[in-house]
Amino acid sequence: MQALRRESPPSITAEQLSSTLELQRAAFMKEGPPSYRARRHHLELLLRLVLDNQDRIAAAISADFGGSEIGGRSIGETQRVEILPTVFNIRHTIKALRRWMRPSRRSTHWATWPSLARVEYVPLGVIGVISPWNYPVSLSLGPLAGALAAGNRVMIKPSELTPKTSSLLAELIAKSFTPEHVSVATGGVEVAQAFSSLPFDHLLFTGSTSIGRMVMRAASEHLVPVTLELGGKSPAVIDRGVNFDASVGSLLLGKLYNAGQTCIAPDYLLVHDSRVDEVVQRIRTQTASMYPRLADNPEYTSIINARHRERLLGYLEDARDKGATVLEINPGDEAAERFADANKLPLTLLLDVDDSMRVMQDEIFGPLLPIKTYTDLDEAIDYINAHPRPLAAYVFSDSAKTIERVGERVVSGALSINATAVHFAQDELPFGGVGHSGMGQYHAREGFLTFSHQKAVYRQLRPNLMHLVAPPYDGELKRRLIQFMIGK
Ligand code: NAD
Repeated sequence: MQALRRESPPSITAEQLSSTLELQRAAFMKEGPPSYRARRHHLELLLRLVLDNQDRIAAAISADFGGSEIGGRSIGETQRVEILPTVFNIRHTIKALRRWMRPSRRSTHWATWPSLARVEYVPLGVIGVISPWNYPVSLSLGPLAGALAAGNRVMIKPSELTPKTSSLLAELIAKSFTPEHVSVATGGVEVAQAFSSLPFDHLLFTGSTSIGRMVMRAASEHLVPVTLELGGKSPAVIDRGVNFDASVGSLLLGKLYNAGQTCIAPDYLLVHDSRVDEVVQRIRTQTASMYPRLADNPEYTSIINARHRERLLGYLEDARDKGATVLEINPGDEAAERFADANKLPLTLLLDVDDSMRVMQDEIFGPLLPIKTYTDLDEAIDYINAHPRPLAAYVFSDSAKTIERVGERVVSGALSINATAVHFAQDELPFGGVGHSGMGQYHAREGFLTFSHQKAVYRQLRPNLMHLVAPPYDGELKRRLIQFMIGK
């Protein structure tokens, strides 16, 4: 089946990885931190790379997602959720760069007067970036933009599940940057393992929580600091009184972009039990208006490969066996074989779910949407808090009290009110998880800081009174002065 054909990208050896790192580190040590102008130039090169190759990028991603007449990754989606946020991010980084690089003045202690202090933001050296398949360009080039802004050199290991995009990234990066500045290491899991064992100055990993654990373990060998951008189950709470028309539309946008294969897609809904039927009905009508057909609609993205489709079908079977009600939303009434041909799945709602079902245990990462009900808001909050901390928590409500309560009580990487997923594209907001959904952040100034060392710089001016704290400690004046500083 053409939709499932895969080509392995050329693989790189552990020795080649080590020598690239040595090359980059030696160049970093020799040339020192790049100036503002040089960093700006690097970011402009990156921006040009994306702008000049939009069509090739969209075509490569679509091919990796199965690329047939009806299947693959929707070109419109790639423009909206891959190219657009990447371009916004780079442009914003260029605009904010001078401000971010400016050292921050700090006050000094009167006892050390006269003196000066500041924090300088200096590059760390060589940054490793490991990226996943679901947004293979924005999750490789987004971290790259942050790392370049902070003046680093970068090695990227993209996913082996999107080999065409990974090869394209390697080709484009090699045209725009020298290998001692930015390089792309393609290959499979062995390459990824060797990559995560390299003594980088910082390693940013985007991927699943289970692999994130392995990456952190490998990085700990060389005490490499890590930023882990992981996944998990992001809940969406739907308040009883909310305007459903507006809510369900933005809920479905986050769920159906990339056919639910999005780290911040709403994983499951918590709906007030008096409104479940209405929510289901709105989901039906809104899905039909966004996607009158699914299987043969190139605007609706395929599941990345047959294994992942089987995984999702397995969740449905398991939930059905354990008593869930399964409602398939198939507006064009297309046949199951058409979905199989395009390696797609329709949006499928699951009611009467409980935690014994795998769909309520694992991150779904596909167009299945379990709906749990609650009668009291605290019940919904308690359910979320009884599970690992999510990457995003969504609340759809017109009540300030409800929004405040969910925001206060739920610990999540981000809180988004009356919208899903678009917080990722807010250039002034940091992005990252908490607990099992990750650690550390990128995007915005916080990302610049992640890839920088915040170096404390202190300067003692002369003349000063420092001799009063130096030994020998005898003498009345010194004793009184120290007593005065300590206080009572
Ligand atoms: P994955 O963890 O399987 O793979 C991610 C990367 O890790 C790939 O490049 C892969 O080659 C590499 N890898 C695989 N085995 C490895 C190992 N043993 N050691 C080191 N690296 C290894 O994730 P995926 O299936 O590509 O992506 C889906 C997951 O990523 C989901 O859980 C999703 O929530 C998460 N995700 C998170 C974010 C975020 O920003 N927080 C964004 C997108 C995806």
